[in-house]
Amino acid sequence: MSENDEQIKLDAVQKLILWARGRVQVDYIMKPGWKAPLPLYVFWCPRHGLVKDYAHKFRAELRCPRCAAEHERIKKEAGA
Ligand SMILES: [Zn+2]
Repeated sequence: MSENDEQIKLDAVQKLILWARGRVQVDYIMKPGWKAPLPLYVFWCPRHGLVKDYAHKFRAELRCPRCAAEHERIKKEAGA
């Protein structure tokens, strides 16, 4: 079971923030090689529902990890 398969549960306040801002910070994530932890957000993917991702780079963009995994698989199947 990967971290993306875990059940995402939000409390009432987090749901309100998600609704108002389109994302809500739920945790911090620290990976090997990182100098500082990054905020971990829950947001809504139109295809996969609630998903979790950390803010990427300077623009703090969020990408659905499941959509990204599907893109990778399609690229491999196409032989790219
Ligand atoms: Zn998605």
